[in-house]
Amino acid sequence: MTNSENSSGSILQWLGFRGARGGRSVDGKPAFANGAGNVFQQARRHLLDEIAAFLLTYELDVTPNNLLTAHGAFSGSNPALARKIAQHVTAGLAVTQEWLDEITAADETIDKHDGIQHLMARLETTLESFSKNANDTRSATADYTDELEQHVAELDQVQGTGQILSSLADLAKAMLERTRKLETDMRRSEEEAKALRRSLEKARREAEIDHMTGLPNRRAFEAVLEREYRDARASFDPLTVAFCDIDHFKRINDTHGHDAGDRVIRLIAEMLATISDDNCHVARHGGEEFVMLFRGISLSEAHKKLDGLREQMAERRLRNRKTDEPLGQITFSAGIADVFDFSDPRAALKAADEALYTAKQGGRNQVIIAPKGGAQAA
Ligand code: GH3
Ligand code: MG
Ligand code: MG
Repeated sequence: MTNSENSSGSILQWLGFRGARGGRSVDGKPAFANGAGNVFQQARRHLLDEIAAFLLTYELDVTPNNLLTAHGAFSGSNPALARKIAQHVTAGLAVTQEWLDEITAADETIDKHDGIQHLMARLETTLESFSKNANDTRSATADYTDELEQHVAELDQVQGTGQILSSLADLAKAMLERTRKLETDMRRSEEEAKALRRSLEKARREAEIDHMTGLPNRRAFEAVLEREYRDARASFDPLTVAFCDIDHFKRINDTHGHDAGDRVIRLIAEMLATISDDNCHVARHGGEEFVMLFRGISLSEAHKKLDGLREQMAERRLRNRKTDEPLGQITFSAGIADVFDFSDPRAALKAADEALYTAKQGGRNQVIIAPKGGAQAA
């Protein structure tokens, strides 16, 4: 069945299925007629069936985002999304990947990153327990296979043992063979689980990187901020957070094009990253904004470092590599805050953002310190 051929009623049936059946299980019997465990198991199987049917009918790839979207619509956790899909299908329109991407991008209730992290965490737990089971099974079988092997060898040596003993020996040999095979399969599965876990770890790391600049992304930065905040508080280290934003960046895009704009973002990312080390984290917050975290140096020292970078940037005169046209002076502004002057790291980040706004208002190309109280001071 192609996208355009699907029956317009089917998705409504799927979407309405759960609600219409109320407390009934998949086989139509009242839920309470089954064992309690069964009901949950059947409901889970049913949800999986619905998700699979949706993806297969509309020829959608099995990607984390599609799974999340289908889960949101069919589990009842995202009624707005379910409604959108139902309306689309009743209007006789095809559910294409483009359309699905469009509605999910617009749907702020889907936190894809969290969703994927959640799926990954569940997959990891499953792998963990699978790998443990495989290991346990292997050691359990190893205990008796050696002994069994010994007995089989002894049986073989006994002469004239009659039919029963010889059948027993054959049986034991077959058992041994199967156990050995099981052990090999288990070992292979365990290896596969380990490889899968490594891929998951890699995917998790990639999900924390901004691919345009190679810097950690906002999500990764927030995790670092939480961690450094805990550690710095315990060890009485100073901690400073900064927000940077390129000045008049729209002009660069408008005058020299988006690609030139991208190159400027990469250049500034590279320059900011020159001071990053174990105690200084730099991340792309989004667009042409960057965040920084300084640990173990005072607010004024952090200000000096960042202001040095600002000055270094302002002194450069860049050219568009593709056209050789001058890009002129490119500057950035920043707001900086002592994290422990605020109730928590988020409040400090907000204060740094407000100080950045003051820097913009004050003419740009400057780094402003956020005061404890709220009104900004240079
Ligand atoms: P201001 O000095 O007040 O910051 O002015 P501005 O022009 O820099 O204003 P603003 O920060 O609001 O503009 C950000 C612009 O950056 C808007 C958006 O089109 C552009 N932008 C965001 N992400 C990217 C990107 O990845 N590449 C490029 N080329 N442009 C981007
Ligand atoms: Mg901006
Ligand atoms: Mg800007």
